[in-house]
Amino acid sequence: MYSFTYQASPTRVLFGSGTVRELGNELRRLGLSRTLFLATPGQEEYVRSLAVSVGPIAVGVFAEAAMHTPISVTEDALWMVRELSIDGVVSVGGGSTTGLGKAIAWRTDLPQVVIPTTYAGSEMTPILGETADGHKVTRSDPRIQPETVIYDFDLIRTLPRHAAVASGINAMAHAIEALYAFDRNPVVSMMAVDAVTALYASLPDISETAADDGARGRGLYGAWLSGICLGSVSMGLHHKLCHTLGGMFDLPHAELHAALLPHTLAYNIPAIADVAGTLREVFKLPDPAVALFEFNERLQIETALAKLGMPEDGIEPAIDAALAKPYKNPRALERQSLVALLSRAYAGAKPAS
Ligand code: NAD
Repeated sequence: MYSFTYQASPTRVLFGSGTVRELGNELRRLGLSRTLFLATPGQEEYVRSLAVSVGPIAVGVFAEAAMHTPISVTEDALWMVRELSIDGVVSVGGGSTTGLGKAIAWRTDLPQVVIPTTYAGSEMTPILGETADGHKVTRSDPRIQPETVIYDFDLIRTLPRHAAVASGINAMAHAIEALYAFDRNPVVSMMAVDAVTALYASLPDISETAADDGARGRGLYGAWLSGICLGSVSMGLHHKLCHTLGGMFDLPHAELHAALLPHTLAYNIPAIADVAGTLREVFKLPDPAVALFEFNERLQIETALAKLGMPEDGIEPAIDAALAKPYKNPRALERQSLVALLSRAYAGAKPAS
């Protein structure tokens, strides 16, 4: 335990309710005077009003952010960056919008301010995944790490129930994999336990009502910590399978993470007795993988990959693709066991190690 490398996140974080009102001050703090606001089409109206609220520091809105950060969309945004002499970007939204801001920053080194409105956690990482011609390329670079993140849990209120709970389990997946990462350290492990605890406690209330400020605040706090975990240590089998399946079959990102997490945890449990013990304490149930499966059911999250659009004849090719370039994982990767794991997740069956 007492031999490790720890690197603190350089990102400045504001957290709370109503914190979005600090945006103008944060932009001035970074010395910015000509910013471009980024959004998905669905959040354009809100983001336009936010841009108006900071006055002339906002000189444009680009509201075409899309899932998996297509490079063609980034090129359109870069055209605006050049035409408007932009000196910083403000990304308001989930991982898709944050991805666009990161793609711009990677190419221009412009400062980014991110205002997350889901629990995905991308805002705390130096990681960018982008797609061109159906291929996803992932890279990590300090230029990709946002300068400032403003968490305002009031903004999560409009996130539809289904998207909120799936996004919360997506966050939990970052923290759980951080607990058994080969390059983990005691500080990140503490954050990971706190993240899983906060998400496990808050997601049922978030699921029941968007009006519960305490639950949204606690959930977003868990998501922040999970994002730090994702950006700090290496992910294993779970993220490898999600990246592979998401890329091969274009499955919805957060829902895929949520459906698969009980199964990847079950696979690893025989190799992570200490982590399993920690999770048993958090979940207060004997089998952490079954606890997560039942948690998904309680939150009415889809448990069968078949229902998310995965084809049955994709199971073996997906495992072969994941094994061709594996991530380091605590339990050795055995093809037949992984095919069995994915078959159970495909059918929505209970996890088994
Ligand atoms: P998303 O950003 O694609 O958002 C999903 C939908 O929800 C969008 O239509 C968006 O407009 C809408 N939405 C978001 N917040 C809302 C709100 N508060 N109210 C109403 N509607 C809202 O979904 P996501 O799960 O946040 O992000 C997924 C993407 O992020 C994937 O491409 C994934 O690869 C990426 N990601 C990257 C990292 C990283 O570190 N690089 C980490 C996590 C996720």
